[in-house]
Amino acid sequence: MRRMTNDPGFHCDVLIVGAGLTGLVCADRLRRAGVTVQVLEKSRGAGGRMATRRTDAYRFDHGAQYFTARSPELKRQLEDWLGRGVAAAWDVPLAAFDGDAMRPVDNRGQRFVGTPGMNALARDLAEDVTCEFQCRVESVERGGGQWRIRAGGRQWTAGKLLLTTPPEQATQLLAGTGTCLGAELAQVDMRPCWAVMVAFESPAVFPWDGLFINRGPLSWASRMGSRPGRPEAEAWVLHAQPDWSTTHLESTTEAVESALLAAFGRVIGSVPGGSMPNRLLTISHRWRYALARDPLQVGCLVDESLGLVVAGAWCSGSRVEGAYLSGLAAARALNPAISP
Ligand SMILES: Cc1cc2nc3c(=O)[nH]c(=O)nc-3n(C[C@H](O)[C@H](O)[C@H](O)COP(=O)(O)OP(=O)(O)OC[C@H]3O[C@@H](n4cnc5c(N)ncnc54)[C@H](O)[C@@H]3O)c2cc1C
Repeated sequence: MRRMTNDPGFHCDVLIVGAGLTGLVCADRLRRAGVTVQVLEKSRGAGGRMATRRTDAYRFDHGAQYFTARSPELKRQLEDWLGRGVAAAWDVPLAAFDGDAMRPVDNRGQRFVGTPGMNALARDLAEDVTCEFQCRVESVERGGGQWRIRAGGRQWTAGKLLLTTPPEQATQLLAGTGTCLGAELAQVDMRPCWAVMVAFESPAVFPWDGLFINRGPLSWASRMGSRPGRPEAEAWVLHAQPDWSTTHLESTTEAVESALLAAFGRVIGSVPGGSMPNRLLTISHRWRYALARDPLQVGCLVDESLGLVVAGAWCSGSRVEGAYLSGLAAARALNPAISP
């Protein structure tokens, strides 16, 4: 992963805002086609919502939990990732819980994870891409046939721009540019998700490594140690339902943790002999823009007159696979010589 030095006058063919999967798939394709690219990312590393939080003893995937690959494009990429140990199958016992009963979910050869964390896929794509981290883009301007980005007192220019931020943030950044994409951006409603990461002092007596939950505040719970390459310590990630997360968007982390852990205790307690062990660590994270309610199915949004593309999972189904396909669509829109 190459980092740019602090060059106040950097110019390239394409500027990309966001080092999540969409931005990095696009950057990688363009780079390989000989296009000069600069990625600007506000966080400390690559991955976006395919996030992994590390502590001394634990590794939590607190954003995307796994991915599926149905398209030929992602299946091809998956073969490569599996071959190089960047991804692995996550063939573990899963169930769905409706408040009364646990129903086993078929999980043979369908779900995959990055190794050693979900962010491994983005990190792999970022390997040869020029990325600037901890660089929050504050403004974008179009003038004289080029884009100018300012962030942290520095600036970059390029003929073309790709934004991969959530649509609401893209709308804010593009205000005043005269883009024709405003109406499409306004259609997409991103829903939040509260995530709680919890470590226990002993294994929870619970036969499932991942649980889809259809009743109460929780939507999902997963045992991190069941994923290839993670520490075996007993650590779980809990996700709240979108409606619950919306209602509790501004609640304190203490209140969120208390409600979600109580709900998890009830889920564990519903299996014979199940009980929640003592907690060693609790961390929470609020995803303000987690998943699109009604994602577009357009690949990406293009304003040719401005040399502008806006892309993201929300343009193509809202999941990891959507991000991958949106990144490919963006690369083709920015350089039609790139083959499908
Ligand atoms: C809680 C949760 C659970 C999920 N579970 C699953 C799952 O199990 N399976 C699945 O397939 N998908 C899941 N998803 C969805 C999946 O994570 C996303 O679809 C995918 O990671 C989106 O990738 P992206 O590149 O489009 O967006 P992002 O990953 O959001 O990337 C956008 C990037 O832009 C950066 N950025 C934003 N604004 C700026 C700015 N002004 N300046 C610089 N950088 C900026 C952000 O920091 C981010 O890194 C989940 C998502 C969440 C949040």
